[in-house]
Amino acid sequence: MATDTGATPPRLIPSGKCFCGCGEDVGLGSFFARGHDKTAEGALLAARYEASVAHLLDHHGFGPDNSVTEAAIAAGRWAECRCGFRGGEQSMRNHQKNHCAYRADGGLTHEGALLRAVKEGPGDWDTARAVQALREAGKPASESRARDKLRKLHEDGHLVRTGPARYRTTD
Ligand SMILES: [Zn+2]
Ligand SMILES: [Zn+2]
Repeated sequence: MATDTGATPPRLIPSGKCFCGCGEDVGLGSFFARGHDKTAEGALLAARYEASVAHLLDHHGFGPDNSVTEAAIAAGRWAECRCGFRGGEQSMRNHQKNHCAYRADGGLTHEGALLRAVKEGPGDWDTARAVQALREAGKPASESRARDKLRKLHEDGHLVRTGPARYRTTD
């Protein structure tokens, strides 16, 4: 495993030619023709890392015991949402608009309240238990709404299904 120095890479200046090496002229201030950054990324993986992101990570000293997402946050490029989601500016905006269990004002949504209850309460969760937990969290919901919220948390990868309309946390 190589050690990542964490050094800031040298400043790059766009040259007017696409950085993927295709020879295309690109507009002032751009490194790539449209979409060629993804092509170049894939080609670099193929050329130097056996087309494997795991090899790329390992080469830079990252892996299960050294989180690359933590490094992205430490570098000031990524942020962590209070729900645990990590991402860059764009994906964080999308996450908080569409997928986060917490509302922008800091309050919990029904999903957020239910997720917290499930994480704190071991064992299987069915609709009745979800209704009860939501009521206790001050977020009363009908049976069908509670069932929907459990299903949604499952779809978002927070819960595993253990039976018909039965779930438990992935943690
Ligand atoms: Zn190109
Ligand atoms: Zn979030």
